[in-house]
Amino acid sequence: MGILNGKKGLILGVANNKSIAWGVARAAQREGATLGFNYLGEQMEKRVRPLAESVGAEIIAPMNVSDEASMDAYFALVKEQWGELDFVVHSIAFANKDALRDRFHTTSREDFHLALDVSSYSFIACAQRAAPLMKEGASMVTMSYLGAERAIPGYGVMGVAKAALEASTRYLSQDLGEDGIRVNSVSAGPIRTLAASAVGDFKKLMDKSARGAMLKHNVTQEEVGNTCVYLLSDLASGVTGEVHYVDAGFHVGAGDPGIPD
Ligand code: NAD
Repeated sequence: MGILNGKKGLILGVANNKSIAWGVARAAQREGATLGFNYLGEQMEKRVRPLAESVGAEIIAPMNVSDEASMDAYFALVKEQWGELDFVVHSIAFANKDALRDRFHTTSREDFHLALDVSSYSFIACAQRAAPLMKEGASMVTMSYLGAERAIPGYGVMGVAKAALEASTRYLSQDLGEDGIRVNSVSAGPIRTLAASAVGDFKKLMDKSARGAMLKHNVTQEEVGNTCVYLLSDLASGVTGEVHYVDAGFHVGAGDPGIPD
C-alpha cells in the first residue's frame, strides 16, 4: 500500500532524468499514484516520453505555460481523460541566463516579465485550471529556493520570481483552502539540473551549500521527491501555505553562499 494509492496527479516540468520533477515522479509512482506529464516542445518530448512511459503515465502531452491556449488545451485533455485531479506538482522555471549573470540593477523589463511569468504566474495559471477538477483533500506543490528570501549571488531576478512564487503559495492556500485544496512550496537545496546550469557559479554554490548544511551534504532529487510525496498525500492533510525546506538544514545555519570565501 502506497501513500498515494488511488490518486491521479500531474507532474509538470520534467526535462530529463536529472529534473527535480523526475525525482517526484518516481517517488509518486512508487507510492501508487497514476501520473500525467507535460513537455515543452518536440525536443523535450524525445526525453520526456520514454521516462513518462517507464512509470506508466496515462497523459503525456505538450504544454507551454507562457501560452494560455496551450495551457487550456492541456487541462482540457486532463479533464477529458481523467475528469478529476488529486494533485499537481509544478516544477517549472525559466529566466534569461544573462539576466542571472549581469548585475541585478541592469535587469530589463523584458527579462523581469519573462522570469516572473514562467516561474511564478504559471503556478497561478495551473491552479486556476486544476482547481475545478479537484475536490477536498487535493494538493498542489511548487518548487522554490532560498534565493526567494536571501540575496544569493548569481540568482538575481529568479530570486524575485521565487519570492512571488512563495507569496502566491500563501494566497492560493488561502483562496483554495475554502475548497479543501492544499497548496505548498518546497524550498530545495541546490541540485545539478538543466535549469541550475543557468545560475552563475553554480559549483561554488553547491560547495558552500554542502559545507553550510546541518547534514554536511547537498540534497538529492530523491529526497526532494520523497518530501513532495508526503505533501501530496493525506499524511499532510493539516499542512498548507507552507514553505517546506528540503535543504539538509542549510537555511537554519550561519553558512551562507552569499558570504565570499
Ligand atoms: P529542469 O531544467 O530539469 O526543470 C525545469 C523545467 O521547466 C523544464 O522541464 C522545462 O521544460 C520547464 N519549463 C521552462 N519553461 C517552460 C515553459 N514556458 N512551459 C513549460 N515548461 C517550461 O530543472 P530543475 O532544477 O529540476 O527545476 C525545477 C524547479 O525546481 C524550478 O522551479 C527550479 O527553479 C526549482 N529549483 C531548482 C533547484 C536546483 O538547484 N536545481 C533548487 C531549488 C528549486
